[in-house]
Amino acid sequence: MNIEIINTGSELLLGRVLNTHQQWLCRELADAGYEVRRQVAIADTGEAIQEAVKEAMARAELIIVTGGLGPTSDDITRDKIADLLEVDLHEDPEVVEHVRQFFLRRKRPMPERTRIQAMVPDGAEVIKNHHGTAPGLVIPAGKSCLVMLPGPPRELHPMFENQILPIIHDRFPQAGGFASVTLKSTGVGESLMEEMLNEPLKELVAEGLVVGFCARTGEVDIRLAANGEGSEDLVSRAEVITREIGKEHIYGSEDEILEQKVVELLAAQGKTLALAESCTGGYIGHRITNVSGASAVLMCGLVTYSNEAKQRLLGVKTATLEAHGAVSEPVAKEMAEGALREAGTDFAISVTGIAGPTGGTDEKPVGTVYVGLATKSSTIAKHRINSFDRETFKFVTAQQALELLRQELVG
Ligand code: ATP
Ligand code: MG
Repeated sequence: MNIEIINTGSELLLGRVLNTHQQWLCRELADAGYEVRRQVAIADTGEAIQEAVKEAMARAELIIVTGGLGPTSDDITRDKIADLLEVDLHEDPEVVEHVRQFFLRRKRPMPERTRIQAMVPDGAEVIKNHHGTAPGLVIPAGKSCLVMLPGPPRELHPMFENQILPIIHDRFPQAGGFASVTLKSTGVGESLMEEMLNEPLKELVAEGLVVGFCARTGEVDIRLAANGEGSEDLVSRAEVITREIGKEHIYGSEDEILEQKVVELLAAQGKTLALAESCTGGYIGHRITNVSGASAVLMCGLVTYSNEAKQRLLGVKTATLEAHGAVSEPVAKEMAEGALREAGTDFAISVTGIAGPTGGTDEKPVGTVYVGLATKSSTIAKHRINSFDRETFKFVTAQQALELLRQELVG
């Protein structure tokens, strides 16, 4: 099936607004088993809108146009498309009432111009906007089906998920269905992951399995998908194999994030955590405290940036610092042990490293990191080299620390 997306808005072309609709809609459609063939962003001029729609009509079965349905003078999508399709507009009394109620509930006067949003093309299906005023519209456009969606994400997202997707499923049913799963991994690069999975999934790929890899900072997503008869079974067989092969590195699926997984594991085991951070400056604590329920597991986080703080708050020994330097395996271990001791927790993680761009040496280049983990019975520390800008360095280092703990928790 040929789907095309047209995102309207001069702000998109001026670089003022990131075109998130493009990604969001492609992902929603892909998760539902529909692939987008082409996407364009265009200025909101009549000419650009009509040209783009006309072109898409020659190819696509489904055309999705976003933006420009509002009441201001630059909102001309509806008019220009009606004009192109040679259909008239009429006022829809239900939309007028919806707009009136919208302002009434907010105890605000209804500007006369907002009434223009109730002008809908003849023959269009009107999709109520539960989070705003401008309705969505579904209209036949030559041999294509054309969907118009409001620009604001908080209006577009629920309308698409709840009202448009069912229409798409209805009009464009998928023979035999569709199945997909996205597994999330960390600690291994995209190419290596692909190499590991190539052979074991070969037969399933021959049966129609589609394997996709998406590399993110410090993570790789593995997407397994299939269309048609038996797709559920094919994807679930592929998932079993992938989880087995990538066991060590796969921490979750779909929208799960590592910190959430770590908090869940700690909570399920009734265990507590302390942090001793240096080069991440509290970033590990930040990520953990973004997770609801963190208070049950995180007892304290110390940001010990200076040597003095490492000594005074964590009991790192002067001799260790002098012999090995602050960025070293023994210091990472003493930091973790100190946090565990001071906070009286089951686990403590520590990080010490050189974020750069200055401060590197031949022996310890920029990006050098030691990640420590102390439990009541043992302490380990791992050496990593994370040569990134400072913020990415912090994210990746936090990722490695969280992953070290996750590995311990899953045994
Ligand atoms: P409104 O009634 O708010 O005018 P509209 O349907 O006319 O809605 P636009 O005017 O095109 O939509 O866009 C409204 C706002 O929605 C934009 O200022 C922008 O913040 C956001 N928006 C529009 N298109 C996109 C997009 N492709 N990606 C992300 N945000 C977008
Ligand atoms: Mg607008």
